[in-house]
Parts: sequence; structure tokens; C-alpha cells
Amino acid sequence: MERNVAWNTYNETEQKELEQISAEYKLFLNGGKTERECTTAAIRLAKDAGFRDLKEMIQTGETLRPGDRVYSDCMGKAIMLFIIGSNPMENGFNIIGAHIDSPRMDLKQNPLYEDAGIAYLDTHYYGGIKKYQWVALPLALHGVIVKKDGEKIDVVIGEEEDDPVLCISDLLIHLSGEQLQKKGATVIEGEDLNVIVGGIPLKDEEKEPVKANILKILNDRYGVEEEDFLSAEIEVVPAGKARDLGLDRSMILGYGHDDRVCAFAQIRAILSIEDVPERTSCCILADKEEIGSVGATGMHAKYFENNIAELMNLTGEYSELKLRRALKNACMLSCDVSAGFDPNFAGVFEKKNSAFLGKGVCFNKYTGSRGKSGSNDANAEYMAKLRKLMEDAGVQYQTAELGKVDVGGGGTIAYICAAYGMEVIDSGVAVLSMHAPWEIISKADLYEACKAYRAFLLNA
Ligand code: MN
Ligand code: MN
Repeated sequence: MERNVAWNTYNETEQKELEQISAEYKLFLNGGKTERECTTAAIRLAKDAGFRDLKEMIQTGETLRPGDRVYSDCMGKAIMLFIIGSNPMENGFNIIGAHIDSPRMDLKQNPLYEDAGIAYLDTHYYGGIKKYQWVALPLALHGVIVKKDGEKIDVVIGEEEDDPVLCISDLLIHLSGEQLQKKGATVIEGEDLNVIVGGIPLKDEEKEPVKANILKILNDRYGVEEEDFLSAEIEVVPAGKARDLGLDRSMILGYGHDDRVCAFAQIRAILSIEDVPERTSCCILADKEEIGSVGATGMHAKYFENNIAELMNLTGEYSELKLRRALKNACMLSCDVSAGFDPNFAGVFEKKNSAFLGKGVCFNKYTGSRGKSGSNDANAEYMAKLRKLMEDAGVQYQTAELGKVDVGGGGTIAYICAAYGMEVIDSGVAVLSMHAPWEIISKADLYEACKAYRAFLLNA
């Protein structure tokens, strides 16, 4: 049952390809620190590869034919890519689905205030974070401000070499006696996540002059007023670029590997398909997974189903019954990261059912927590088919659970799509320090994920 170390299987050409993919991935991470930025990047890559906007085709009523490539974004925060196959959709299609939202802190609607001569932005964290990890490190702002007249302003501060960065302060060690006795969950509390943004008072301003000065800077740079924060979505994320990790450069340290490493591998996989596939290829990049796949752009929303209906309408095979059959006959890889075995915290893992960095793409037959609660438990028949598919394609893979049975767990979008009656299994890349500001993956696992997702789209 011992799995291969993927690194031992590579020849020189594969090593080169692995480095090329890793370099592309780091650029994708640097340019995609929010779901909006990832969607924009996916649209750009798709357009360059000949994909067209499904919305425009719906308007013109154009017929879709095998080999046609289309994309459909949902509110600029989620996106689906398709390559129409030669088989009718009714017989099923192949789906790879990941999420492009990552844990972070969002600015509150009324965020800006001044205290003790310092201006702050107040935040509400998003997703599961260890709050103490997000203090005393450089932070950046990414997002949009939408003005009353509908004008949308893109904001990115803290990423250019000469940009200022932002930061949340931590208590000095000299006065931390009491703080260090607290439980980890309360060492830093949610309402302590206040981002420092300024310290110079505006001249001749009596009331909150430092805040007034920050508002002046924002107005000069973006033409916005304080009230425009009411209609803004600005995310506070770690500032800086993804980098090679290790003296042997075997790993990547980056923000948002969960789940952009799978999102990137998926985009790469679908864009790499040149011929007409038998079954239609579908790549989903969903939003809101980290908070339960809720809302209009989360996987629970109907945009997935609606897009399949639109697609079948344009291929001339739509009926309610055929749509249901298409969804039921689909196969899916729910592509999300898995917990990598960490020797520093070996006690929470069950070693023979753990994912190891560098042992290839990981399949989780089930996730969930404490007795598989909330899990999609994939069928043995499906896992058997995938074992053969992966072996035939020369993909290094491993299987894992998310930690010891009674310790905890997690979920993905798998169970949501499984509700249509399709075959679904979780498949992704092992991560160390998951949900920390800087997460760790192995380049070999990224490489195997790219291979696995392409093989799945072509052969499942
Ligand atoms: Mn995830
Ligand atoms: Mn996550």
C-alpha cells in the first residue's frame, strides 16, 4: 500500500515541465488573491485559448457544435469553462470543480476609524482562520469600490515594490503574560483584527484628523468618499509574492493554495485539450466554499445547473428530462486541497491514511468529520475506475483522510454535486499550514494534479 515518491519517477523533460508549470502557477497566485481576480485571470486565459462568452451566444442564439469552447462567469466571482464534446450531453459530461475563494479578512461596511492618533480599518474575517496568525505581518488590500453611479474601481494596495503595506499589531511580549495564558482561539479575537492604515493628521482638521487624511488620500487616488465603503468589497490578504520553498526548491510558499492550486491545475487541464473530447469537458471555479458554498456565487446556487441548461439549449438537445439525465450521468472530480502529513503535529494524523507532500495528487474517498458527518462518500466502483484511469495515464496518486477520526475534519463542494446523482470524489493537492496566511505545497503534487485533471477530462 506504500505510494511512490513522485520525484523519483521524473526524467529531465518532466522536471523541466514541472518547473514551467510551477512558474506559471506562482504568477497565477500573485495575480489572483481574490475570487474576482481569479475569475478575471481565468477569463483572460480562456479567451486567449479561443473560449467565447456563453452570455453573448445566448443572446444571439448561436448553435454550439462539438469542439466549441465557451465560458460563463457568475457575477465576476465564479466561472465555468466548457469544451463541447462529440457525445450528446444527455449521456453525461466530465466535471472538474474547485473553489477560488480563500480565508482572509474582509473590510466591514463602515471600516475606517481613528484611535490614539492611528487610523484603522476594521475587518470581519472570512472562513476558518487562526486569528493569531494574521497579526504582525505585511498585508495588502484587494477589491472593488462601486460608486452610486455604478462606476467600479479596482483597488490593489501593497503588492508593488514601492507600495506601502498594512499591518495588524500584536501585543509586545513584555506585557503578554496574561495574553499567553489564554486559549489559542482567543489570543487574538475577531474584533482585534484592526488594520493600521495611517498616522499623519490632516492640517487644520480638528475632528479625527488622521482619519481625515486617509480619506483625502483615498479621494485623491480613487475619487471615493467615506460613504463609498458601503458599497465596496475589499479583502485584506497577505502582501507579497508566492516563492519557492526549500533549498532544493521543491515546494511553493504562497497565499491561497486552498484552493487556487486545484483551480490553476483545472484551468491548465481544460486549456490543454486541443481535440474534440468525446464527453463535454466542464471546469467549475466556485466562490464561497470557505463559508459553506452559500450565496449566488457559491456551489449551492443554481448557476451551475442553469448554465448546463443553457448549453444544452444551444446544442439543440434541451429538455427538462435530458438536463436531469446529463447531470445524473456526469462524473466529477471535486478538486480541493487535502491536509498534508506534518511531522511537527503527527499526533492528529493516522499515518497510513494520510497524504504526504510529494506523493502525487490525493484522492479522498470521503471527507467530513467525526464519523464521516457531512461527507460525500464516493462509490467503490467509481474509485476503481479512477485507479485504472490514473494508472493508464501515468499519474502518481495517493489516498488519504483528513486527520484522525475523532480529531476534526472538513468538507468541500463534492456533496453538493453528488445530490444530482452523479459520481463524485474529492481529489486535490496536500497542503501544510492550510488556512494560514502562507501555505505550503509540493511542486510535484501540483504537477501530478495537472496531469490527473487532464486525463480525467479526456478519459472519464
Ligand atoms: Mn478548500
Ligand atoms: Mn479551506
